[in-house]
Order: sequence, then C-alpha cells, then structure tokens
Amino acid sequence: MNLLEHFVGGKLISGSSDRKSKVFNPATGEQESEVRLASKTDLDKAVEVAQKAFETWSLKPSLQRARVMFKFKELIEKNADELTKLIVSEHGKVYEDAKGSLTRGLEVVEFACGIPHLLKGEFSENVGTNVDSWSMRQPLGVVAGITPFNFPAMVPMWMFPIAIACGNTFILKPSEKDPSCPLRLAELLTEAGLPDGVFNVVNGDKEAVDAILTNKDVKAVSFVGSTPIAKYIYENSAKNEKRVQALGGAKNHLVVMPDCDLDGAVNGLMGAAYGSAGERCMAQSVAVAVGDIGDELVARLSKKAEALKVGPGMDKTSEMGPLVTKEHLEKVKSYVDLGVEEGAKLVVDGRNIKLQGYENGFFIGGCLFDHVKKDMRIYKEEIFGPVLSVIRVKTFEEATKLINDHEYGNGVSIYTRDGDAGRTFASKIQVGMVGINVPIPVPMAFHSFGGWKRSLFGDSAMHGAEGIKFYTKLKTVTSRWPSGIRSNAEFVMPTMK
Ligand code: NAD
Repeated sequence: MNLLEHFVGGKLISGSSDRKSKVFNPATGEQESEVRLASKTDLDKAVEVAQKAFETWSLKPSLQRARVMFKFKELIEKNADELTKLIVSEHGKVYEDAKGSLTRGLEVVEFACGIPHLLKGEFSENVGTNVDSWSMRQPLGVVAGITPFNFPAMVPMWMFPIAIACGNTFILKPSEKDPSCPLRLAELLTEAGLPDGVFNVVNGDKEAVDAILTNKDVKAVSFVGSTPIAKYIYENSAKNEKRVQALGGAKNHLVVMPDCDLDGAVNGLMGAAYGSAGERCMAQSVAVAVGDIGDELVARLSKKAEALKVGPGMDKTSEMGPLVTKEHLEKVKSYVDLGVEEGAKLVVDGRNIKLQGYENGFFIGGCLFDHVKKDMRIYKEEIFGPVLSVIRVKTFEEATKLINDHEYGNGVSIYTRDGDAGRTFASKIQVGMVGINVPIPVPMAFHSFGGWKRSLFGDSAMHGAEGIKFYTKLKTVTSRWPSGIRSNAEFVMPTMK
C-alpha cells in the first residue's frame, strides 16, 4: 500500500505517529493509499524547522524570493498533467475541471511573482520640520494553512505563494482525503530553489490542527473548510493570540429574472450547480425563479440535468465525476431523501445511477428539486453535492430579501438584461462575491476571495491585496537627522506649530 508521509525541511519524513487514514480513488471506490496522521510532537517539530528557516528566508531580498516563484510557475506548467491526474485520482472531479483549478492556483503564483512591487511601502518627506516618515510591511514568521478536500491544489495556492513570497515560512495541513497533490507541490517548490524548511506539509486530522492552534510560534492561521470548523479555528486562533482568516461553507443563489437570456441562465446554472459534482464552495445550489419564469426554467433545467454525462474523471466525455468518499455520497443521498420528506418536488432523481465498470465508485447523478421553500432544511443547509433547488418568488425585492436572510453569504449571481436591477442587486446584496450574468463569480488572483456572514470568520479575504496585508505586519518609522534635532526637552504632545 502506498504510504503518504509528511514533507518537512525539504524531504519526506515519517514522524512519530503510526495513526493513518485511508485515501480512495472515488471513481473505482478502491483504496489507493494511506496517509500518515501527525501527532502534536510531529507538528511542533515541523514548526521548529520552519522557525529556523524563517531567520534567513525573511532576510532574502524580495526579488530573490520572486525568482523562486517564477521558477515554481514554470515547474507547475511543466508538470500540469501529472498534478491534474493526482487531483482526479483522489478527488474525483473531471480532468479539465481539475486542470482549471490548478490554473486558478497558478494565477496566485503569478501574482506573487510581483512581490517586490507589492511590498513597496509609503514615504512622506517632512511630516514635521526635518522629520520624514515611511511605512513598510514585514513578514509575520511561521504561518499555517489548513485546507479542505475540494480543491487540493487551488485552495493551498490561495495561501502559500503569497505567504512565502512575503518572507514567511509555511506549514500546510491539507485535507487527509486528497494529500498527494500538495505533497508534489512541495517537491516542486524545492526544485524551484526554495530553501529547505520554508514550505512544509504536515498531514493529519484534528490532532495536527489543534497542535497548530496551540503552538505559540505559529503567528497566523488561514483556514478553508466547513462553517463549524471555521468557527472553531477562528475562536481558538484568536484565543491563542494568532492572526486568523477562516473561510466556511456556503449556500449560493442564482437569481433568474423574467427578462434574462434564459438559455444563458440555464447553461450557467448547469455548470455552476453540477460542475465538480457540486463540491465547490461557489457552487450555485439554489435557483431563485422570479415572477412567472419558474415553469420554463424547470422544464429546461430538467432536460439538461437528465442528460448530464456522469462518469470517471479521466474519461474525456464525462461532465461530472463521483463524490469524494462513500460517507459523503451517503450524506448527499440522505439530503435528497430529506427533500422528498419535506415536500419539495424531486423533478430529477440521480440517486440510483449505476455505471458499468464503476459499480463501487461514489457516483450520484444530478438531482433537481422544484417548489423548495425557505424553511426546508435542504434550502437552509449546505449539501455539497449535485443537488439544485428551485425556489419561486414573486418579485426582485423578495429574491434579495430571501438571500439577505440566509446565514451564508459566499457567492451570488443575477441573470438579467435590466442594468438597474443588476446595479441595485450588486449594491444591496449581503454577499461577498457577486456575479451579474456570470454564474460563478470567483475573483481573479489580483482581487481577493472571501464571503460574508457565516462564510468567513475574520477580517481578511484571501489573495490579492488582502493576502499581502494578512501575511505581513505594518511598521511605520519616523526619523530625524542631527541638523533637525531639538536642543530642548519637550513635555507636551508634539503637534505641528
Ligand atoms: P472540513 O471542515 O471537514 O475540513 C477542512 C479541514 O479541517 C481539513 O483539513 C480537515 O482535516 C480539518 N478538520 C476537519 N474536522 C476537524 C476538526 N473537528 N477539528 C479540526 N480540524 C478539522 O471541510 P471539507 O469537507 O474538507 O471541505 C468542504 C467544506 O469546505 C464545505 O463546507 C465548503 O463549502 C468549504 N469550502 C469553503 C471555501 C470558501 O472559500 N469559503 C472553499 C472551499 C471549500
């Protein structure tokens, strides 16, 4: 059995723990590897290594750190096929989608290549007579990232390229469900010239996470995952005096206005609801049909959902792959059962799909519910599977109120030809990332990614300017040279005279 280890100090190591977790190929349902789960001692040792590496890495000129990023970018491009296959084999999503997610991560590396410019501070001459002032941003020290299963390359790459380009050293605790791609990225960073100990991967579960939260040398924690764990990470990081950003779960709405290009909305919804089998925090899992558009919308959606090509991720004709684990498949199916019990109309039922040659894979077909009501659990809770709910409302105002009342606020979209409706929607909606005739409004690397409400705990979104700010601390220097030094002591607050 292939055993996946930790990557610390520039090499693979076993650590002290014998606890392991199973890693499956979701398309076949077969166990492919096992991954070692770190103990607290293993995590603390990795932090020691990273702390030592920080002493020299943080002093390197930013241009030299940028050059490592340039080389890393080249290596990701060169090895894109291998990295993509690692994602497909452990996550299950289809090849082109996996490759797209790698590219979105690569774009953050490209952003981090500009770090000398991004770290430029501000300077003011003569803030007082003969007094100058400047500000600079300095790295924090050892920082950690704890990431979910659904984007094993992209989500870690929202974090570490910027963190290390800023001069920090990094401990990544990836999801134990698909750790191979992050381990390969660590090897590529070493090949790119990153000094040993600057980027480390510690595999594990709650024990490793708790060790991160209590280690006093970890200065900041970036987390992406489900809302209950995000809240736990946020509270415990803050309690232990760490900087923290914790991105949580979602329930995203796509509003279909009666005047919209309906084909565009239906196609947008198909990709956004069923792409990656709905295992995306930006998946559109609720279609809000406004006015009298509901019947036509459901008719068109159901035709397409029934025709969805479900299959293994490596089959070029598959549009949707399996779910990540058997447990997750059972959970998603139980939500579909629940929706029926709650009285929603199951228009397309994907629960009983069987794929020849992949009978043990974790597959479910696309599911579509109509007449979903706002008090149903299938509407209120995140399902994280290929289950689209249609909820019908009379007016635009009712649609915006529905969305603003929801506990999550990650992503949202509106399809309309009415510029006024689009503008009002963007301004009034209580959600962090908004699309207008764009189904999945994920910001580019040079903007920042983050939701509102219970989709993000903390004040900073990821990557872009917010990423630079999160991974650095501000220092402001005020200086005066001998020709301007005062000859008398002053005991009152200095003010401009
Ligand atoms: P998860 O919360 O189960 O796991 C995320 C990480 O937390 C993993 O590394 C896991 O090992 C660790 N973890 C799990 N249980 C823990 C515990 N009890 N104590 C400490 N650590 C624990 O999430 P997941 O199932 O891997 O990923 C899916 C979730 O992630 C969905 O809710 C999805 O919406 C969310 N997500 C959010 C975003 C975003 O940007 N907001 C992006 C991607 C995924």
